Amino acid sequence: MKDVVERILERALSGADLSVEEGVTLLRQREAEPIEQIRQAADRLRQQQVGETVTYVVNRNINFTNICEQHCSFCAFRRDSGDEGAYWLDWAQILEKATDGVKRGATEICMQGGLNPQATLNGAMLPYYLKLIETIKTEFPNLHLHAFSPQEVQFIAREDGLTYTDVIAALRDAGVGSMPGTAAEVLDDQVRKILCPEKIDSETWLEVVSTTHQQGLPTTSTMLSGHIETSEQQIRHFEQLRSLQQSAKSHGYTGITEFILLPFVGQEAPKPLRRRVGRDQPVLSDALLLTAVARIFLGHWIPNHQPSWVKLGLPGAIEALRWGCNDIGGTLMEEHITTMAGAKGGTCMEIEDLQAAIASLARPSQQRDTLYQKIG
Ligand code: SF4
Repeated sequence: MKDVVERILERALSGADLSVEEGVTLLRQREAEPIEQIRQAADRLRQQQVGETVTYVVNRNINFTNICEQHCSFCAFRRDSGDEGAYWLDWAQILEKATDGVKRGATEICMQGGLNPQATLNGAMLPYYLKLIETIKTEFPNLHLHAFSPQEVQFIAREDGLTYTDVIAALRDAGVGSMPGTAAEVLDDQVRKILCPEKIDSETWLEVVSTTHQQGLPTTSTMLSGHIETSEQQIRHFEQLRSLQQSAKSHGYTGITEFILLPFVGQEAPKPLRRRVGRDQPVLSDALLLTAVARIFLGHWIPNHQPSWVKLGLPGAIEALRWGCNDIGGTLMEEHITTMAGAKGGTCMEIEDLQAAIASLARPSQQRDTLYQKIG
């Protein structure tokens, strides 16, 4: 088996795009030696593709409501209106959080929320979302707004009877600068039936993200890993992201700026999925192997890879920088979605914490903006 792994890694290091079968072979390795070879190949590719510097972004998360019409089986964040713990920020609270972010040096606001059917203005949903944008952009026109998942776009389009293009163009014109590639979970409809049966299917997710690229907005990309999905489903997810990016690049769009692996945290998740998965916190070794294979499979197309310190804790995220990652993500300043799921990583990082963590690997650190331009 060792020779097979070596041959696959040689192909990857020579710049070839791996097949699904080759990706699955890498992910199925269980022995220490081939896994170390995979780690080293991912680390070399990272070095070739983006160099030694580890980047970070100073950003603030705003999750404007946790009231949501859906019931994803992994979600500990959602509430029905009137439930204990349900919240919905008003305009003043949103502005206050953005102002606090700016005072603390944020260059980006990352804004996403639950799918709240009551979130309308003048009887329509799009005006509510436009007002969210306006609330921040009127006060801080230069702040980058990284906002609204493909699921939120579909929710607005469905509620208001609009096309995805209509919704995305309106969000863009109001001031959204890029879109989070969240709600991807695993792009496999069998998995989605169990994980998020009410969410958009894989094809719709791909359609919304592709439409976003066509409208001139970059996106990120994500995968929720470590629950019920197989190695093959993980690699097919990567393959779909790769094709999406190939298509974006062939049309001259920026497309996907980064890939973020989001290992499942089940501690406070609804019981059926938690029981089925059988553990509360991610298995670090699984997440690291997947991180390395993501770099090997996607790196040539999607060169920026970010671990989630919220999900893995800072030590786990720092370790992931040795497995193909080149970015440590954002300061966030507050985080609800994963923290309510029982994650131990915390909700806020000071810039100095991120810089010190990067320095512990003897690699240089660099602040970046949302689109990976150097700051300072
Ligand atoms: S993951 Fe998002 S869409 Fe699903 S229930 Fe939670 S808040 Fe709602």
